[in-house]
Amino acid sequence: MATQWYYKIKGKVNGPISSSEIIKKIKARQILPMTQLRKGDSQWVVAQSVTGLFEKAGVWTGEHKCPYCGNTITTPPTNCENCQRKIETSAYENADTHFKKIVSSKLEK
Ligand SMILES: [Zn+2]
Repeated sequence: MATQWYYKIKGKVNGPISSSEIIKKIKARQILPMTQLRKGDSQWVVAQSVTGLFEKAGVWTGEHKCPYCGNTITTPPTNCENCQRKIETSAYENADTHFKKIVSSKLEK
């Protein structure tokens, strides 16, 4: 039987859905790095701790930096804790592009 996934949004459990549906939801930003995920009957974990999941979706989960002061921030949209400026999702999109470049350059080697 194929892997079945459950995910929690605002305390509500959704699923079961397949691995490919999980990838689709990550791409659509319906599942974010901090979204709670569960594989079958196992424990709830944050989505970004599932190895390879975000890589498969081509979504960056690494560190984000404030474009204004360089402070490490959480996934945009957010406010920088250091300079208090609003960081838009466009910063995240740029990070995606950057990540894809890294992935494709690794594949080329
Ligand atoms: Zn800042």
